[in-house]
This record gives sequence, C-alpha cells and structure tokens, in this order.
Amino acid sequence: MSGPSDSSWRSFDLLAPTPEHALLAESLREFVKREVEPQAAEHDRAERFNLPLFRRAGELGLLSVTLPEEYGGAGMDAVAAVQVCEALATSDPGFALSVLAHMILFAQNLAVNGSELQKTSLLPRAATGAIVGGLCMTEPGVGTDVLALRTRARREGAEYVLDGTKTFITNGGTDEHTLGDAFIVYATLEPGRISSFLVEKGVPGFRLGQKWKNKLGMRASFTAELVFDGVRLPLASRLGEEGEGTRHMMRNLEIERLTLAGMSVGIAQRCLEVMVAYASERKSFGVPLREHGQIQRYIAESFAEYRAARTLVYDVARRMDLTATGQRIDADAAKLFAAQAGKRAADAAIQVLGGYGYMGEYVVERLWRDAKLLEIGGGTLEAHQKNLTKDLSRDPGRIGR
Ligand SMILES: Cc1cc2nc3c(=O)[nH]c(=O)nc-3n(C[C@H](O)[C@H](O)[C@H](O)COP(=O)(O)OP(=O)(O)OC[C@H]3O[C@@H](n4cnc5c(N)ncnc54)[C@H](O)[C@@H]3O)c2cc1C
Repeated sequence: MSGPSDSSWRSFDLLAPTPEHALLAESLREFVKREVEPQAAEHDRAERFNLPLFRRAGELGLLSVTLPEEYGGAGMDAVAAVQVCEALATSDPGFALSVLAHMILFAQNLAVNGSELQKTSLLPRAATGAIVGGLCMTEPGVGTDVLALRTRARREGAEYVLDGTKTFITNGGTDEHTLGDAFIVYATLEPGRISSFLVEKGVPGFRLGQKWKNKLGMRASFTAELVFDGVRLPLASRLGEEGEGTRHMMRNLEIERLTLAGMSVGIAQRCLEVMVAYASERKSFGVPLREHGQIQRYIAESFAEYRAARTLVYDVARRMDLTATGQRIDADAAKLFAAQAGKRAADAAIQVLGGYGYMGEYVVERLWRDAKLLEIGGGTLEAHQKNLTKDLSRDPGRIGR
C-alpha cells in the first residue's frame, strides 16, 4: 500500500491549529508568568478576587477571545477558549474560574442567545472587563436536577417580576460588599418552562445574599448567593423567546464543561512540572527520588493521563461549534476524564513531594484543593456518567464514529 502523497497534514498542531492560536498561546504564557503567578498564592490565602488583574486580562483581549469582533472580541473558537482557561489554571485556577464564569457563562452565552440591543449594550464592556458577569443557574435546593429550578418569573403587563434565590454563583460579588455587574438568570414562567433573563446591578430587589467564605479551593474566585425579591424587569431583558431557557442552558453547559476540562489539564501540567523537578532535586537513600520505581509510577501515570486528557479536550474543542447544541457526549466525556486526571495528578504531586507537598509554598496543595471543584462544578462526575450512558444508549453508533 502506498502512503498519501501529501503529508502536510502531519504538521497540524491540535493545540494551536492556526497562527492566531499560536500567538494567543504565547501571550498567555507571558501574562501567566509575569502577572498571574506572582499574585496567586496571596489571593488564595486572602480569599480575594483580583479585580485589577481581571481588568488587565480584558485589556490584553483575554476575556473576549470568542466574542464577535463587532463587540470587541477576537471572533475565535472553542480552541481559543480552552487555551485561555488551561493557561490561567496552570498558575491560578481560582482566577481562571472567575474568568471562565465571565467569559463563557455570561458573555459567550449572551453573544449566542441575546438580542442585538442586549449585546451592544453589554458585550463591549464585558470584553474589556469594565463589567464583571456571571450565570445564575444553581439554587439552594436545586443543583444537578436543574430543570426543577424554582426561581419564578411572573409576567405583569410590560414587565416580568422575578422572585427566588440562586447560590454558589461565581462572580456573584467582586468582594463582600459589591455585587457583580450583570448576570444571566434562568427562571421558570411555570414549572418546567424556563426562560433566560438579563439582570444588572442596581435593579431594586436584586441583592447579594450569603457570601461563601472558607471554600476548600478556588478561593481567588468570589462565590455568593444572589437574591431576587420582586425584581421588576422590562420584557426586553428576556433572552430569546419565552421557554427557550432550557436550550440556552444546555448549549452553554457544553462549552462550560469543555473549558472547565481545560482548567483540569492546566492543573495537571503544573503538577507534573513540580513533581518532575522535585524528583530530580530531592535525594533519599543516596539517590534522587526519580530513581525509585514507586515515584516513577506517580510521574509516568500522571503524564500519560495528562497527555490523554489534553488530546481529548483539544480534539473536542476543534469539533465544537459555539452556536450549536447536541455536543454533550463529547463535552461530558472531556470533563469526566480531565477532572479526575487533574485531581489524580495533584494528588500524585503531593505524594512525590512528601511533607513539602503538604505545605503552601510548594503550590501543589493549592492545586489539589482547586482540582476537586472540577469534579462538582458545571456538572458533577455522576451527572456526566448519567448523561453519557443515556446519550450512548440512544445512539450506540456514536461510539465508533
Ligand atoms: C465554587 C463553586 C462555583 C460555582 N459556580 C456556579 C455558578 O457560577 N453558577 C451556577 O449556577 N452554579 C455554580 N456552582 C454550582 C455547581 O454547578 C453545583 O454545585 C453542581 O451543579 C452540583 O449541584 P449541587 O451542589 O446542588 O449538588 P446536588 O445536585 O445536590 O448533588 C449532590 C450529590 O448527589 C449526586 N446526584 C444528584 N443527582 C443525582 C442523580 N440523579 N444520580 C446520581 N447522583 C446524583 C451528585 O452527583 C452529587 O454527588 C458552583 C459551585 C461551586 C462549588
């Protein structure tokens, strides 16, 4: 059998398929090294969101890679979104989570599902980081079972009235006293009929509730409860048509899961760098740790899983259409695998470093705490397992495609 005459396809780089992606990767490397890394430990300890750094990311165009150019974005694809989340998470997953909530859950969601007026009024400011956005899906009594959400939207003449409470909202505040600026809120008109609404700071009845302090990880992102108490909104604050919210939610969850998976890959990369360096420097029984077979197992298995997760995540990103739905199988598979690979890599890194791994200054204990969230947020492992089994049973032919 003769081979293909044109072998230029071999130079295809899954991680940076175009010169624009390569340039973005380079800017991210510089930004992370010079501006993200120096502040990461301090903001984790203080449980503080770094708003000036967020605005700086906006200035560099890193909050708007996927937004259309007419609203100040770069008009790039899901690969670019993964690049941003992965790179930030190699250093500061908490900050990365805030960027993801703003960039994907709020701005990208609005870009795909919002009206021209909504987009013109908010996306240019979201692109620069002048406003901080988020998404309100989870409620105190409803998480995985999201279609049972209870936040109510009542139509009264030319207005909707919103009542309910959302919780665990990333960017719900920028600090303990300051509400985030703008949110997409999922609410029901009647049980099971969900619509999406745009709610901005300053509307009467909309306020910060409980501020979640003392989180296990992701402490550099601010997590809050948000209360909607008779919030009156004009009809124009609805996204799309009445009852379209479930579709908005499902579509946005796909890119959310993919980018969260990208964060786990970033965490795994950093953990590997730390454990490989340490295993060469530290000696026990007269030889570097890397000479011990059990240490080799931690390093080698973490690397193999990291490579597998990274390849899967970028392959799913390459195929993902940011405006479509129906890509849940791939997005769930990427997050299910990458989240666990990221957590295992962080665990292995602590083990390789022994007591030092347990100490804050060696970074991996922070990454270990942060890695856990990715098995819960944006869909738990169990939710991914259920979705995958359901979707594959419905379309078994998908397995070999
Ligand atoms: C730091 C942080 C940031 C977050 N940011 C946001 C945000 O910005 N916006 C937002 O809307 N939400 C946010 N969330 C919420 C997050 O998406 C939810 O926590 C997650 O979806 C799980 O919901 P839950 O916590 O209510 O758990 P539950 O749904 O109550 O689940 C509890 C356990 O039961 C399991 N379980 C539930 N149902 C089933 C089932 N049918 N079969 C098998 N097992 C099941 C779950 O997998 C889990 O193990 C955030 C959460 C955290 C911790």
